[in-house]
Amino acid sequence: MEEILKGLSACSCGRSHTTDLKKVVIKNGALSEVPRLMQEGGFKRAFVVADQNTERAGGRALTRILNEAGIPYSAFIYLDRELVPDEQALGRFLVHFDPKCDVIIAVGSGTLNDLARFVSFRLGIPYIIAATAPSMDGYASTVAPLITNSMKTTYTAKTPWAIVADLDVLAESPPDMIAAGFGDILGKFTAAIDWQLSTLINGEYYCEEVAALMRSALDRTLALQNDLTSRSNAALHSLMEALIISGIAMSFVGNSRPASGAEHHLAHYWEMQYLFSGRQPVLHGTKVGIATWLVVKLHEHLLNAGLGPDDIRALPRQFDQEEWEREIRRVYRQGAPEVLHLEAASGKNDLQKRAERLQIIAQRWDEIQKLISSLPPAAEIIRLITAVGGPAYPGEIGLTQDLVHDSLLYAKELRNRYTILQLLWDLGLLEAYAERIAEEVF
Ligand SMILES: [Zn+2]
Ligand SMILES: [Zn+2]
Repeated sequence: MEEILKGLSACSCGRSHTTDLKKVVIKNGALSEVPRLMQEGGFKRAFVVADQNTERAGGRALTRILNEAGIPYSAFIYLDRELVPDEQALGRFLVHFDPKCDVIIAVGSGTLNDLARFVSFRLGIPYIIAATAPSMDGYASTVAPLITNSMKTTYTAKTPWAIVADLDVLAESPPDMIAAGFGDILGKFTAAIDWQLSTLINGEYYCEEVAALMRSALDRTLALQNDLTSRSNAALHSLMEALIISGIAMSFVGNSRPASGAEHHLAHYWEMQYLFSGRQPVLHGTKVGIATWLVVKLHEHLLNAGLGPDDIRALPRQFDQEEWEREIRRVYRQGAPEVLHLEAASGKNDLQKRAERLQIIAQRWDEIQKLISSLPPAAEIIRLITAVGGPAYPGEIGLTQDLVHDSLLYAKELRNRYTILQLLWDLGLLEAYAERIAEEVF
């Protein structure tokens, strides 16, 4: 990890890769390293923020350690039963913030990390995250997904100065959170393929070294996957490390390509729909794991379709813009204007651009097929999710067949990112596959 944090200068891709993350401590008793880290960072007073659960999981141990080391701190504990990273939670953070503090220490996983990362950025004060669960890949992220105006929006934020992952704390985290972290890591399979697809088809920038870094973290996690349910130190360590490396890999290339593709777009789409209907949120990684399974199925259907370059060149060129807009307004509701704006700016569905892509797809069809066939089978993905004890089927997390169908069709409109979803749209197959898969998985 220390080597990785140094970055890659003069990489084979022609760029240099750096991260603002300075320290990562993953080990038993890592919390007791916090006083040393405070000293190394030259920090004088900590602002500890947690919620009721994470205070119990690690917050109390942390403040005891700070007390024993004679390090002054102020603290704020959210008392919400289900903390949401929205304006209200951000407001309370600021109301309680003690301006005498020169470092924020957030104790938690997803939500607390998102809140602290954003406040840290806005206040210009570094922060340390003390992880309580290996549940998602946002620990080293540079952006914060927040819910503002009832919409999930990604904001620029700050990478933590340090990540402290105490394996004794992680070992006590709820089983569904560990399964979720594992699901998030499974998504790296399809994210990697999407990135390479776009490189083949659109000439998008690609870095083999960064992709390999992510891939080896994924492999190490898979190798120890059987030990995750028994929470062995080695398995928790490799999972946590892979989750952190996801964030580092993203800062290395300055976008989310190494760690996020169609599976994340589906997960975001589902999350939006949960928000619209005021339903209980589902862990990010749980959704990503299930979405990965669906995306691998899409790839399998494409390989089995037996298309050839001539079929691709002969594809009809039509697109009903009005019908598409009606559908976008139906599925995205209050989020529709943003989605329509993105399309106006990016022209993802522009017929001329599609025709140009189809030429390249036909030309490189062998390479594309070879790339897709490097994915593990869908049956293996579902086996892995189930083995770690996570929900594996969309119905288990409250998704309906219609919602899965719509998500496969329209999740690609959330971002201007070329993925398997856009490739299938280019090939005129997306609608039929969305229908087929929505049936198969229920
Ligand atoms: Zn590179
Ligand atoms: Zn993720």
